Amino acid sequence: MEPETLMEAVRYFADLEICDLYMRRIKWPDGHVACPFCGSERIGEIKSRHLLRCKDCRKQFSHKVGTLMEDSPLDLGKWLAAIYGSVYHVSSVQLCAALDVTQKSAWAMLRRINTAREIAMGIEYRPIKGRAGYRVGNDGSVWTCWGNGPGAKPDRPWRQLKVRIDRDGYRRISFRDKTAEKVGPLVLTAFVGPCPDGMECCHGPNNNPADDRLENVRWDRHINNIADKRTAGTMARGDKHGKTKVTEATITEVLSLKGTCTQQQAADKFGLSRGYVGQLWSGARARVTA
Ligand SMILES: [Zn+2]
Repeated sequence: MEPETLMEAVRYFADLEICDLYMRRIKWPDGHVACPFCGSERIGEIKSRHLLRCKDCRKQFSHKVGTLMEDSPLDLGKWLAAIYGSVYHVSSVQLCAALDVTQKSAWAMLRRINTAREIAMGIEYRPIKGRAGYRVGNDGSVWTCWGNGPGAKPDRPWRQLKVRIDRDGYRRISFRDKTAEKVGPLVLTAFVGPCPDGMECCHGPNNNPADDRLENVRWDRHINNIADKRTAGTMARGDKHGKTKVTEATITEVLSLKGTCTQQQAADKFGLSRGYVGQLWSGARARVTA
């Protein structure tokens, strides 16, 4: 039976025999234990010391070999419980109490586990220009190391910031100076470079505006962004909202099409309603922009 809470995990992995079997299932899923030094599969076991021994090169190794816990004096059981806890975002305070290690050790364990996970997932962080104590990940996460309260300094362990989804579906982050910014442009600025003239942050191939992973954002022309939004169906229809999210540039383009195509064709091209285009063309609608 798999554990369901951190305390259950600690009790479960207190049995080092269970830990060894658990690791063996993960590391050698086909059941063939291979020597990490010579590759031989003639492996003996020193049960009393929870060690394995190669019958060819005669080297000994533990089930921790080749993992992030390999060089740690802490036993496999504590590590497995900590890895289990990290999945559920336990704090170093909770972990040190549960594992009976110092908080410093617990913090170092969590940091090592999280770093390994980030490397495995290809996650990288870059500083946010002009925002000391903040960083952004290529997974679209935003982090701060600022402490709380007056006299706070950017010297705390990194913690992930909560994002807010704005009414257009974009993820926004609030900084300590109370200003807020969209996350997509922060990711692009950090990993690609500043926004080229005439371009904006566009989302795709996945047209979800809340998907700010580096592979889903790009600097591109506004017109292409509109095409994205139209496909995704996230664009506000001009006549359903008092204030539309259509920009001045789009309105200018719509107006320039007057007489060259039908209202419906212009509406389709920009993802607007036919009625809205009609209002623009007839001048019945003021050039209100977002
Ligand atoms: Zn060997």
